[in-house]
Amino acid sequence: MGLACEVTMPKVLGSGALAIDGGAPAVPKAASRVAWPIVTPEDREAVLRVLESGKFTSNTMGEPEVAGLEREWAAYVGVAHCTAVANGTAAIALALGALRVLPGEEVIVPAVSFVASALAPLQQLAIPVFADIDGSTFNVDPRAVEERVTRRTRAILAVHLHGLPAEMDELHSIAHRHDLFLVEDAAQAHGAVYRGRNAGALGDVAAFSLNATKNLPTCGEGGLITTGDGALHERAMLLRQFGERIRDDERRTYTSEILGFNHKMSAIQAAFARSQLARLDGYRDARDANVRRFLAQLSELPGIHVPECPPDRTHAWHILRLRFDPTDACGDDVDPGAFREVLHRVLRAEGVPVSQYQLLPLPAQRVFQEQEGYGSGRPWTLPGARTQQYDVHEFPNALAVIEGSLTLQKRHLHPDAGPLLQWYVAAFTKVWEHIEVVAARARALRYVPGWQRAQRARRADCATEGRPASARTAAARTDHRG
Ligand SMILES: *Cc1c(COP(=O)(O)O)cnc(C)c1O
Repeated sequence: MGLACEVTMPKVLGSGALAIDGGAPAVPKAASRVAWPIVTPEDREAVLRVLESGKFTSNTMGEPEVAGLEREWAAYVGVAHCTAVANGTAAIALALGALRVLPGEEVIVPAVSFVASALAPLQQLAIPVFADIDGSTFNVDPRAVEERVTRRTRAILAVHLHGLPAEMDELHSIAHRHDLFLVEDAAQAHGAVYRGRNAGALGDVAAFSLNATKNLPTCGEGGLITTGDGALHERAMLLRQFGERIRDDERRTYTSEILGFNHKMSAIQAAFARSQLARLDGYRDARDANVRRFLAQLSELPGIHVPECPPDRTHAWHILRLRFDPTDACGDDVDPGAFREVLHRVLRAEGVPVSQYQLLPLPAQRVFQEQEGYGSGRPWTLPGARTQQYDVHEFPNALAVIEGSLTLQKRHLHPDAGPLLQWYVAAFTKVWEHIEVVAARARALRYVPGWQRAQRARRADCATEGRPASARTAAARTDHRG
């Protein structure tokens, strides 16, 4: 393969040519060595402190780290209460559990998010109902949310996608009008501010993730629930601990008051996260400067739409999503999906690690198309539950965004990513100098959108397995089997 390339590749191709055509990549490998999370001597000491204490879990009497993190995070966010849990998905599920969302009730979720935003309601036997997003903020469109409200709706899960706070005031009005809870999925938005208040203090209850990839990372998995409501907090504490009430000054009683889980956070994760929290604002400010400069430069190139941050809020820049408009870049005869697909390959060859964030709108994922759930189609088939079709065509903005954009993740989180982002600018500029090559490749591509490929693959699987492709018949069949 290498030999064949050398034979067919003309020698004239130098660094001027696109890397995908044999030119030198625009981004030097050495520039890309920016790791996240950053682990400092203080972080190591924090972990060692726990190992030496012998107190490893939140229910060990006198364990200080988990409660310490809860206190510090509540103060940071500006709420009365915080519950530390095992991960962000558990944080969302326990937040819904604390609100007593009932089996078969509906939770409105954006059509584009990480899948956990929609799995967490299901885990609580609630039914996710998807609402389309706004094509420029990528957050849920409040009008789409209100259209999805039914007599079964109990809560709205507002995701601050990529770190930009959602339209919380509008969502509040909708929640108020229809007597719904407003829950924040703030897994991507640590430290973001909306109209003077922090993400995590903008709804009835909020969920954060401390996964190692997030803006406030731990050395593994973790999650935080914040609320101003003491009763909700108390219930979240029971839910994470087998339904047991743990008092710091009393022996454990081993009696469960309610149906609980084991979603505790370990003391090591808590100590590491506390150490990171001390640097969160410093990193946030450095990142904000790096990212704003980078986006301003990229926005000079025709046909690239960079994310914007409205003046009434701040952006945590967890993920950078770039939308492409082939009409402005190279002509109106290029399909946006094909253009994005070619840019994906061309930019990666240049050393820019762009990726698609969400290959499909959430409702197009198999778990929602087939609705197997806990078996027999639960919770979708619970008595009184409404039938859900999850027709992907009902989410045109989600489809257009996924088809026509690419994201940058993780490396730009590092406060010293400024020089790397400048290399990325050089790479984009180079690619845009060859935009006719990109356009020609896109025109020649036999492109099928990801959601159509997924649909075809599912139908083919169903055909070979001899089972129906529709969710309701699948559920009926499972019921029949017992
Ligand atoms: C990461 C993430 C979650 C889940 O958090 P985990 O800690 O990975 O369970 C939920 N929602 C969103 C938007 C996320 O980005």
